[in-house]
Parts: sequence; C-alpha cells; structure tokens
Amino acid sequence: MPSYPLRALVLRKTKLGEADLILTLLAADGRIVRAVAKGMRKPTSRFAGRLEPGCVADLMLNTGRNLEVISDARSVNLHPGLRHDYERSTAASVVVDVLDKIALEGQAEERLFGLADATLSAIEHTERTERVHTVLTAFLLKAMAMHGYRPHLDSCVSCARDAAAGRGGGFSLEAGGVLCPACGIPSGPGGVARLSKRGNEMLGWMLRSRMAEIAETDWPKGTVEECFDLIRAFVGYHLSARIKALDFYADGAGS
Ligand SMILES: [Zn+2]
Repeated sequence: MPSYPLRALVLRKTKLGEADLILTLLAADGRIVRAVAKGMRKPTSRFAGRLEPGCVADLMLNTGRNLEVISDARSVNLHPGLRHDYERSTAASVVVDVLDKIALEGQAEERLFGLADATLSAIEHTERTERVHTVLTAFLLKAMAMHGYRPHLDSCVSCARDAAAGRGGGFSLEAGGVLCPACGIPSGPGGVARLSKRGNEMLGWMLRSRMAEIAETDWPKGTVEECFDLIRAFVGYHLSARIKALDFYADGAGS
C-alpha cells in the first residue's frame, strides 16, 4: 500500500466496527479526507488523546481500497485549553462542525485550514472569555466569505446606492449584503435582518483583521450579539445542513 504524510485537523469521529473509528479530517490543503484509525477505541490505543476533534496532527496515511488508513500520528497542536471551560469548548465544537459541513469532500480551499487553526488558537488563548463570542462570530463570517458568501457591506446590495447604505438598516440574507432604506425594511419578511451602523463597522473590521488581533479587542456586548445573530441567520440561510453545535452554543454560552 502506498503511504504519504498529511497534516490535518480532526473534525469528527465515527464508530466503525468493534474498536475502530473513521476520522473526518480537514487537510492542510483544505481537502476533506476520511481515514480509519484502527483500534482507536481500545484504551491502549496509541492514537487515543491525540486525534480528538480540534487536534492538529501529522499523520502517515496508507491508501486503502475505500478509505485511507492511519499508520502513524504525531501531535502538532492538541489545543488543550479548548477543553478547560464550557464557553471555549462549545465554541470550538461550532468551528469543527461548521468546517465539517462547508469543506466539501475533495474540493480544496487552502485558506480554511489556516483559518481553523488560527480560530482554535484564538479561542484557546484569549484572556477574557467574553471575547470567545467575538472570535466565533469572526470565524463564521470569514468561513462564509471563503465559501463564496462574502457579505457586501459598503453599498446597497440591491441598487448600489451608497449614500444611505451602511448607516443602519437592513441586511438581506438572500443577497448577502446591506440594503438602503429604500430597498429594505429591517422587520420585513423575506430574510432581512437588522444591522446597525456599528454592527456594519464591526463586520467590516472582522473581514480585514487577523484572528490574533480579533482575540485581543473588546467591542460593546450589544454589537457583538447583533453581529453574531446576523451571521448565524446568514449561515442558516445558505448552508443546507443544520449546524447542531451552533444551535447548542447559541442557546447556552452565547446568550
Ligand atoms: Zn438600495
């Protein structure tokens, strides 16, 4: 069997037979790879503890008939701080769940791996747990942008007028951008969310900023909540799969 090395982030574990697991991995080149970890559910497994969701590892893979088989694993980053408190661990679960849904099998998007690793590090290391909410909001926004849904924030997405857009009003979930007062009523039907001027500024800043910087910055709680709610609705509108970890997070730690 030919073998090759792969650096990857573990997204999901699925039981296989009595003692094995199938791991869903986000490879460093952005591909989704599924690989068997033989015997990983036995307490004596050398893979145990190294290949949990959220861990980054250097793997040696053998090409199997249907799935790759992991022959060796070396930890690169276990992100241990993610498992220490509820806020951080539930936020990390959202990151891996979203990646699992949007990184289509075999379709490479290299930037996703870097975004994922930077986000998990930011969630792990930010000093104040309130900032975890900001980091997660920025992750969802950036992941959607990489997935082809970069929000249009500078001018009205419907009529291109820029005078009134971005001063607080509507955001079309369907069109993925701000609406001027003439084009959208924030409370109206048809997938329109409210977005304040400050919220618009925050979304623009998140798109331009690096995760490490986002993890060090405090924004008003109300603005973070507004942006989180909007991006959560945006994700729900455009991804066909339900992100269960996001619902769980929003019902608990995020509110
Ligand atoms: Zn307009």
